[in-house]
Amino acid sequence: MWDLKAGRNQFLGSHQGMPDRSFWYYVLKRANDTKRLNDPSLQAALRWSPHYSNCPQLDHEITALLADREVNKSWKGFLRSIFVGRTLGGEINAKAKQRSGKAWVGVSFQYSSAIMAYVAAYDKWRAVMSANSGADPKKVLDADIFSGIATSRPFWADPSAFVGTHPSLSRGPDGRDENDYERLVTYADMFLVCHEYGHHLLGHTNKFAKKFKIEEDLRNLLKKRGLEAVVFRRTPSRKEPRANAKAIDTPAVSQKEEFLADILGLQLASKSRGADRTAAVYFAMIGTICALLAEADIMDHWFLDSLDTHPSTFERIGLLLNLMPTLFHSYPTHGIGDSVKQLTQQLAGFSTACFQYSMCSRYPDFYPAPTMGQILQAFNEKTLVRAVFE
Ligand SMILES: [Zn+2]
Repeated sequence: MWDLKAGRNQFLGSHQGMPDRSFWYYVLKRANDTKRLNDPSLQAALRWSPHYSNCPQLDHEITALLADREVNKSWKGFLRSIFVGRTLGGEINAKAKQRSGKAWVGVSFQYSSAIMAYVAAYDKWRAVMSANSGADPKKVLDADIFSGIATSRPFWADPSAFVGTHPSLSRGPDGRDENDYERLVTYADMFLVCHEYGHHLLGHTNKFAKKFKIEEDLRNLLKKRGLEAVVFRRTPSRKEPRANAKAIDTPAVSQKEEFLADILGLQLASKSRGADRTAAVYFAMIGTICALLAEADIMDHWFLDSLDTHPSTFERIGLLLNLMPTLFHSYPTHGIGDSVKQLTQQLAGFSTACFQYSMCSRYPDFYPAPTMGQILQAFNEKTLVRAVFE
């Protein structure tokens, strides 16, 4: 397949000169943090050299994914040839590329940092909505949970500089803080990585992967859920070139590819990678939705469609929520009940609250603040619900 070493050299050589060490070494160097750079206890970590990724956490997760018995063997050899790089830039993005025998996936550090705020917001929202918390559920509607995020949005959206997460945004209920959310952020990161792996595996970037025929399996899965048309029969927009241009460049095709990469990405990201299987599924579900919410909220990408290469995030989240109960058959480790279904309901309610607040804060003349009725409807229907002024 591709040459991992060549991909690594290509990626690290061309991304702000991070050729030979952990991404964190370059973060500290950029911050001129001489104290930590000279700390003897950190020297081994700082001398760490990249293999699958320049981020030690991602390298660890990818190594575990490639050792997971549930991952198709023939895919593993293919994935072993792809380098995954963290970029220091301020963009909110993840990309899959291949060129002259090398392939890589890039994930921006800005994206992962912002996700922390959404993971903490989900925890706060869940605590307020929990029947046993004793808290007034109306509190969820008073913008407490999302207003801090709204203040940070323009800074995260600015690609010219890296902006981290303000500590107040990663403070959750019961004294939880960023250390408690790190694992969920890693699952969100792995969704981003696996979505891009998905593009490579589905053959969107290359011809070699066509032999895996994954698209057919995903089509059958969607057919069973009555969702085939959402992904495979997208209406081309009026301005879209039809007969002449290369089919691959038309938005309907690239939007289909994004949906498929999302589904495959979520499936891969939920592999246990040596951890508790049920926990892995739940963490992947939460991490995936938070990653998509962060992108839509920060980039105002809820409804962009038509000529855009990506479908709207409103639709992407809706499709994944719809599939979650059929994708996973994990049972709760404590208590009884169908917890994948319950978690899907919670995520639908949270996504709706986040979406509605995001739109209300941007377009107050059209979008009211989220209401309890709307959130309960999302909860019951396990999907995003949109409310506009009559
Ligand atoms: Zn994509």
